[in-house]
Amino acid sequence: MAEEVVVKGWVYKRRKMGAKIFIDLRTVFPQEFTGQVLQVVVSKESLSDDEFNRLKKITQESALEIKGILKEEPRAPGGVELHVNKVLWVNEAESPYPLGKKAHSPDVLLRNRHLTIRSPRYQKILIIREKVTDFLREWFKQDGWYEVFPPILVFTAAEGGATLFKVDYFEEIGFLSQSAQLYLEALIFSLGKVFSLTPSFRAEKSRTPRHLTEFWHFEAEGAWYRYDDIMRAQESAVAYTIKKLLEDEKMRNWIKEFRGDISILENIKLPFPRIKYSETIDILQSKGFNISWGDDLGADEEKALSEEFEQPFFVTHYPTAIKAFYVKETPEDPKICYSADLMAPEGYGEITTGGEREENIDRLIERIKREGFDPELYYWYLDLRRYGSVPHSGFGLGIERFMRWLLKLYHIRDTVPFPRLARRKELV
Ligand code: ATP
Ligand code: MN
Repeated sequence: MAEEVVVKGWVYKRRKMGAKIFIDLRTVFPQEFTGQVLQVVVSKESLSDDEFNRLKKITQESALEIKGILKEEPRAPGGVELHVNKVLWVNEAESPYPLGKKAHSPDVLLRNRHLTIRSPRYQKILIIREKVTDFLREWFKQDGWYEVFPPILVFTAAEGGATLFKVDYFEEIGFLSQSAQLYLEALIFSLGKVFSLTPSFRAEKSRTPRHLTEFWHFEAEGAWYRYDDIMRAQESAVAYTIKKLLEDEKMRNWIKEFRGDISILENIKLPFPRIKYSETIDILQSKGFNISWGDDLGADEEKALSEEFEQPFFVTHYPTAIKAFYVKETPEDPKICYSADLMAPEGYGEITTGGEREENIDRLIERIKREGFDPELYYWYLDLRRYGSVPHSGFGLGIERFMRWLLKLYHIRDTVPFPRLARRKELV
């Protein structure tokens, strides 16, 4: 291999070794090096004095366009290094770089998020994330679902008032969407089965490593889909996404870098285990948790339960009282409903909630009232039950929750470039 290439990128590190200078370049062109650094070898004999002196003192994050020969070098990241023989263009960065050599606190990194995202770690996360959404989309499209584009500014609460962000809407009150579900339910009467990927907003005051106030929500809704059908769609899409990621050697290596062991991902099998909510209560009680039937599973409970599993699993048949008003009750026992959460294993917990929706108008009105909401405000949602109501089911998956488990990240904020957290107004 002795190919002449033009390379464009930014100086990540520079060091001197004898008469040579080595530059680790964060390369974006050619794209194959993005996410890892390209080792650039600078030697006096290959360059003019002027060029050599410029590179000798080049500051961190300076932008470079250089030409050279790619040579195999097993010790270099990616197995190749560039022997530069021409400097085409330089834009020198001011020095010192705010995120220079030493390690920085999470606070400093968040204040400098616009710079933090340049590092190879974030380059990798952002690229993996793009693949995740590509493969999820791909599965749904191949399975015949239409991608649709619901609104973000809304006037009807989907998940409940406590976590709604209010928006000043020409002297009236609007909200930022918490979920596209109600709109997707309307759209199935047009297109049958639909999905969307939109931002959702939750004014979650809880400061946990799994909550953002803005997250990306992959939601789907299918007409004539039943409880089991929607679980099958979810597990197939998740298993497909993981399979496709691991088939790509670069993704596979990067995922390995982040999470260490990938055997759990490799061994995923369909169908995912399904376990009833009532059984989870028994398991948790036997582990010493003070929990009884009817209580919601908190973060600690989910974690303990999810540590028991080696692959994603569904918790099914929740108590109706702890789920949203639109969830359908089981005919045998109205205290139990057709809602299921998909849980990630290894202690990570909930990544989706889904289930069958109530299609009977009287029962739905009753549930809306029980929630303390005004059925008048839901007039359009109730119309869906008035005009040609059908059984239907859907779910919502948080992309960031999925990423957090996939890469075994401690904090969900690392799955997005510009995280929105409850603790403060972000500066970036
Ligand atoms: P949790 O109980 O874990 O806070 P939830 O049950 O309130 O979540 P749902 O209304 O079921 O959330 O939303 C569907 C999916 O959206 C969740 O399973 C999760 O993957 C994701 N999600 C919900 N809230 C958040 C959040 N604040 N930050 C990131 N992802 C979220
Ligand atoms: Mn949920």
